[in-house]
Amino acid sequence: MNGYFSIAIDGPGGAGKSSLSKRLALELNIIYVDTGAIYRTLGLYCLNHGIDCKDEDSIKKNLPFVKIEIKHEAGIQKMFLNETDVSNMIRTPEVSIAASDVSSLASVRNFLLDMQRKFAKEHSVVLDGRDIGTVVLPDADCKIFLTASAAVRAERRLKELKEKGIDQSFEDVLKDIEYRDYQDSHRKTAPLKQADDAVLIDTTNLSFEESYNKLLEVVNEKINLC
Ligand code: C5P
Repeated sequence: MNGYFSIAIDGPGGAGKSSLSKRLALELNIIYVDTGAIYRTLGLYCLNHGIDCKDEDSIKKNLPFVKIEIKHEAGIQKMFLNETDVSNMIRTPEVSIAASDVSSLASVRNFLLDMQRKFAKEHSVVLDGRDIGTVVLPDADCKIFLTASAAVRAERRLKELKEKGIDQSFEDVLKDIEYRDYQDSHRKTAPLKQADDAVLIDTTNLSFEESYNKLLEVVNEKINLC
């Protein structure tokens, strides 16, 4: 026991993991790590270098040339790829698909495991992702599985993309969400699934505030924050 506590929040894309985790980390004054951004950064590297995101041999050969760093600036997570800030570039629909493709590969997941675990060894953390409660931090003090219907998640994603000036139809966003849901939950290594000891929160019919209050309730039950 190192005196730090860890909160694992898993679930499919668009369930509200990152906005809720960010708020929670801010309120608890702990570090938030968006682990999806790590896979997105590797996906971006492959797209930029013309590497097939499903070709494990090519990706493996390239891994020694990929330096991915997470830096927290004023509490905001920034992603660096070979010294370049790619925090905004990794948020496009193409990179979402590339991230899901590369994340299906066992060698990629092993390559990125230590950097995720390291945060929990050195700080109290909220990590969000797909396999945090099952693989990355199986001993997390609090595990939550956040979900919502695919249609509601697509609507939320569409709104986020619009705010970033990215124009996509609802149908295309829904198709991407369904593609990633299927691929993320059917891969052999560390598939998206609820850990046995995780608490399920379905945010389909909940506002942000309602979701946050539920989350806080669970965290307070599991971790003595006083
Ligand atoms: O969370 P986000 O949508 O940014 O994640 C992008 C992709 O990265 C996901 O679709 C998933 O395939 C992958 N991912 C993962 N394991 C995690 C976090 C993300 O496989 N812990």
